[in-house]
Amino acid sequence: MNCQNADLHCHSTVSDGLLDPVALVERAVANGVDLLALTDHDEIGGLDAASAVADAAGLRFVTGAEISVSWGDDQTVHIVGLNFDHRHPDLVAGLARVRGGRDARAGRMAAELAKVGIDGAYAGALKYAGNPALISRAHFARYIVERGFAPDVKTVFDHWLAKGKPGYVSHPWAELAEVLGWIHAAGGIAVIAHPGRYRLTPAERRELYVAFKELGGEGIEVVSGSHSEAEQREFAGVAREFGFLASRASDFHGPGESYTDLGCMAALPPDLTPVWADW
Ligand code: AMP
Ligand code: MN
Ligand code: MN
Ligand code: MN
Repeated sequence: MNCQNADLHCHSTVSDGLLDPVALVERAVANGVDLLALTDHDEIGGLDAASAVADAAGLRFVTGAEISVSWGDDQTVHIVGLNFDHRHPDLVAGLARVRGGRDARAGRMAAELAKVGIDGAYAGALKYAGNPALISRAHFARYIVERGFAPDVKTVFDHWLAKGKPGYVSHPWAELAEVLGWIHAAGGIAVIAHPGRYRLTPAERRELYVAFKELGGEGIEVVSGSHSEAEQREFAGVAREFGFLASRASDFHGPGESYTDLGCMAALPPDLTPVWADW
């Protein structure tokens, strides 16, 4: 598949995005995207609607999900699964289990936020999420902005929600090995999402690549809406060294909340093999 404008990472209202799956696909079409994956956090519930609209519009669409993984010393890494059978029972059950932890975590986050003067955060975040199994820090951030404690979502993360801040609570997500197992059982490929966003030392970063490779992980996001040009060069080098396929990913969450719109990223370096080469 020869794609100039692939976007293989974005979010809808089925997780913490602002557009519903139909509006998201319509925006991708308007932006000239020619290969799209919807990758909601730990969720596949938007894929059928998105796929139907994409088919009608002539936009090539593949299934996806961005899965939350606990790694190392209370780190979270995100693994994007792509082009899988989203009805495979291992994947469906695994994702349901990961989502199952979100509600209790949200309760603990709200209790911590109340201690620093931000009351009503559970109900406030739930209002944005719509479903307790989907509550994410992004929904808390919107509520905290709504309350006037901060001007924007990024500021909320910097003050309250990032690791080490008062509203952050540690949470056991899935294990890397089991997540790759679900993705592969369902016939998909696994991609390390936005490697530039993890607060890992260079040695810890290598441990992640090595473990991911040993488990049969295939790809890495080289071009990401959250990568600088220097980071894109760094992760292109990682793709070459480890033989990873390269992905291109906006990580779009919604107008006004994401710096990068659907499809509006740099091209992949031409010597890399894109994740869609065999699709
Ligand atoms: P969770 O899965 O509940 O831990 O929430 C993670 C989500 O929060 C990410 O997918 C982003 O949507 C959002 N997020 C994380 N860090 C930041 C940040 N520094 N600024 C804005 N949004 C962020
Ligand atoms: Mn998100
Ligand atoms: Mn992510
Ligand atoms: Mn994402």
